[in-house]
Amino acid sequence: MSATPAYDVNERRDTALARALKARIRAEGPLPLDEYIRVCHFDAAHGYYATRTVIGAKGDFVTAPEISQVFGELLGLWCGVVWQGMGAPGRVRLIELGPGRGTLMQDVLRVARKVPGFYDALDVHLVEAHPGLRRTQQALLDAEAAPITWQPGIDAALDEAGTHAIVLANEFVDALPVKQAIRRGGAWREQRVGLDVRGELAFVDGPAVVGASSVAAADECAIQEFCSDYEAAFGGRNTAVRARSAVWLFVDYGHAASALGDSLQAVRNHRYEHPLCSPGEADLSAQVDFQALSAFAASRDLVCDGPVTQAQFLGTLGILQRASRLMAANPALANSIESGVARLMSPNGMGTRFKVLGVRSPTVAPLPALVSDARSA
Ligand code: SAH
Repeated sequence: MSATPAYDVNERRDTALARALKARIRAEGPLPLDEYIRVCHFDAAHGYYATRTVIGAKGDFVTAPEISQVFGELLGLWCGVVWQGMGAPGRVRLIELGPGRGTLMQDVLRVARKVPGFYDALDVHLVEAHPGLRRTQQALLDAEAAPITWQPGIDAALDEAGTHAIVLANEFVDALPVKQAIRRGGAWREQRVGLDVRGELAFVDGPAVVGASSVAAADECAIQEFCSDYEAAFGGRNTAVRARSAVWLFVDYGHAASALGDSLQAVRNHRYEHPLCSPGEADLSAQVDFQALSAFAASRDLVCDGPVTQAQFLGTLGILQRASRLMAANPALANSIESGVARLMSPNGMGTRFKVLGVRSPTVAPLPALVSDARSA
């Protein structure tokens, strides 16, 4: 399951953040892995999201909405149907977590106009931690008539009693910090980021992990991963309950059933490297454990639909029909439309590696296109 190359010390780069982290570890001791990831993402001076062009051909990775406009258009139609299922309320919050360059929201809003009354009902809230991306989103969505508000977190976006809300999150949960536990002598120990004998960053064993022994038989050195920040998707304890009807759509790469394994990965300039090589200069992410995400939602009295594979979800929503209509209308773009859709649907790539999970308040009807028959990892 791991995409992580072995830790080649010669690949290690002496980034500004590596120096700051080593000084901090010398003073305070090893850091929990989720804290290391949080600092790598968000350190105000040297954090990855604070300083870099992250998404697109010039960035480190490309996401589904950047591959094909059809992706966002189908999600937009899905939102329109969900809104109708909510009884077509006169106001609905359309919230996006981690909107990247704003491309997905732009495509969603374009088709929202085609669902009678939907566009005019929208209050758009974008939750974005990256100041540079916030500016990119502002520039792209500047001409929209719908009101758009930027929020620091999901709590602020959902913070109104009686709100109807639809929350979109594409490749958001994979960026949330994870912890890892490693199997040593029949027990689980927290894996932390410390220093090796030469004073360089290295994984070290931390304290015993209580309550991590749900997996009975695990080999020595097996790894378990836990996301420690699902609240960034659902908000504080009472948030979902306060919204009268709320729906979440998570699209991310990951596995339907919890499994042992190290999935933390670092990508820089479209290439994998070890997560400790370039602190602050590589994208760190981990596969989403959809079983754990669903369990967290259930602990908030929310109901889950799916997960299904991305190929099944987009197929049910009619991606092939939509693509052929677009190709007929834009013959000059036919090749790029076809190759983009093929990439999103690829049986050995995004089509199956990405899963789609719907989450809803119990008052909302089962969500379209998310009947689970893909409970394979
Ligand atoms: N959804 C976009 C971008 C995915 S990249 C797309 O599909 O293209 C992850 C996005 O989440 C980035 O916009 C990043 O800045 C944002 N992000 C990551 N962690 C965040 C957090 N804790 N709070 C808010 N935004 C976050």
